[in-house]
Amino acid sequence: MCGIVAYIGHKEAYPIIIKGLKRLEYRGYDSAGIALLNDGSLNVYKKQGKVANLEEYSSDKDRGGHSGIGHTRWATHGEPNDINAHPHLSEDEDLAIIHNGIIENYDSIKKELLSKGYTFKSDTDTEVLCYLINDIRKNTGTKLGEAVRLALQQVIGAYAIVVISKSEPDKIIAARKSSPLVVGIGHEGDFYLASDATPIVEYTKRVVYMNDEEIAVLRAGEEMKLYGIDDVEKTPYVQELELHLEALEKGGYDHFMLKEIHEQPRSIEDCFRGRMNAEKGWVSLGGIKEYEQKMVNANRIIMIACGTSWHACLVGEYLFEDLARINVEVEYASEFRYRNPIITENDVVIAVSQSGETADTLAALELAKSKGATILGICNVVGSSISRITDAGSYTHAGPEIGVASTKAFTAQVTVLTLMALSLAKRKGTISESEFRTKLSELEAIPQKVQQILEKNDKIKYIAAQYQNASNALYLGRGSSFPVALEGALKLKEISYIHAEGYPAAEMKHGPIALIDEEMPVFVIATKGTSYEKVVSNIQEVKARKGKIIAIVTEGDVQVTAIADHVIEIPEVDEHLVPLLATIPFQLLSYHIAVMRKCNVDQPRNLAKSVTVE
Ligand code: GLU
Repeated sequence: MCGIVAYIGHKEAYPIIIKGLKRLEYRGYDSAGIALLNDGSLNVYKKQGKVANLEEYSSDKDRGGHSGIGHTRWATHGEPNDINAHPHLSEDEDLAIIHNGIIENYDSIKKELLSKGYTFKSDTDTEVLCYLINDIRKNTGTKLGEAVRLALQQVIGAYAIVVISKSEPDKIIAARKSSPLVVGIGHEGDFYLASDATPIVEYTKRVVYMNDEEIAVLRAGEEMKLYGIDDVEKTPYVQELELHLEALEKGGYDHFMLKEIHEQPRSIEDCFRGRMNAEKGWVSLGGIKEYEQKMVNANRIIMIACGTSWHACLVGEYLFEDLARINVEVEYASEFRYRNPIITENDVVIAVSQSGETADTLAALELAKSKGATILGICNVVGSSISRITDAGSYTHAGPEIGVASTKAFTAQVTVLTLMALSLAKRKGTISESEFRTKLSELEAIPQKVQQILEKNDKIKYIAAQYQNASNALYLGRGSSFPVALEGALKLKEISYIHAEGYPAAEMKHGPIALIDEEMPVFVIATKGTSYEKVVSNIQEVKARKGKIIAIVTEGDVQVTAIADHVIEIPEVDEHLVPLLATIPFQLLSYHIAVMRKCNVDQPRNLAKSVTVE
């Protein structure tokens, strides 16, 4: 979380940094700030709230300068106010720093600095690091880059930092560990830095993804210098960006979330294009091909993730177990890594993360790697940390997802997991050739079926209007529709702030049924399939207690339609692929309810995308 942007070159820095901050605002919007070096002065402006507040606040101030840093914050240490906003200054106001991450040992460093007579202005861990760098610089007489290096040797935690100095105005120093940082190499000897490539793409496609414990020294008009924290010089690995600018705009939709929901026919297709052929009967996930036999032979496959990606993994568990008969465990990355889990060399760990930067998932992977497990990744962001540390992996190719509530990334993750499950099933011989081909052609038809569901938007909006004032909601599903219920509930709570819970339908009678009254909307996935009759019984149980039923049913359904308050029909589909369709109406329902409640759909309160802190 937190978005960082910086620029050094011959252009005006302010417009580049502000635009970049807007692109990164999805990463945090507690406060925004900027520091600009202009003719010997270091001008710092920072403001609680959105980047727009900062723009307005600084509009009558000196915003000139060819070098500067900017930050949009998701607070971890200290409340979200003007003082705790980044950039932070050293006590003598010579240094300014922006930081994404957490300095875990900030308290002991702070105590030491306090004993030296320093006084702090903010409650952040970041300000402590800034003081430490400056203290080292003054005591040792070293230059800024060396002071940063020495300071970082004392730091425990995660950071992507960028530092500028009034007394050394010709350079920008940047460093990272566990938080992402990309350097864009401009065409005219200028440099762009950001947490991801989205603020950079319109200026240059040549980028360097910094690795852990690397420090970059950037001077306008000179080559990029890169060092390890051990001071060994490295050669920067320059990559070509594949990102397109249009993908970062709203394209006529009111919100990114709505745009991303509507992009799903294309994003799902992009995800499987070139990776399967129903007619010829093959699936080929190039990235993981040479690891497939290992997956088949594995003791078990452990899927690790957080949030929506965790729900995708739960769908994956059903698919892998049912189709390929491979033992799968799904773990919350944060729990897994601190539980002293039993991991052996025969385990295969698959990390699933949209951003590929999720701090807990990354750390869990590192743990698994240290125990000798094979580690694979499913990420959306190309070049992300997870994609770089894993042995192999598959990208979801969903395109940039800007809305904080994940939609198209989820369906793309489920698509990749479906392809993997089918490929493994084929290799293992647990699926017949005809079943394999049928499922592939069913998968091929998914984009068009998703489109059909999107065309029911008006009906879904009408249903949303009936429940916009609900205080609670229950989501029920069985089998692989249970994770869809969890995901539906998560979507509703994160963007509309309505309390919602997802449950396996049969579990309702073990507790949640006590909540049901005539005020309670219960969203149920009741599509045709193995558990249909059982779900019908669960619906009857809700109706008997006067709960409201909104059911997702298969086209032509009669039984549920007769008893539910509202139904949303989805096209008939292979049972294994139901999650890809059933999730779409829930996304639209949450979206419309949130809009009706006047919530900020793309930037829900307290949340941020790309959770790069633990
Ligand atoms: N720890 C810093 C703060 O609270 C940065 C937070 C972050 O990167 O999310 O200001």
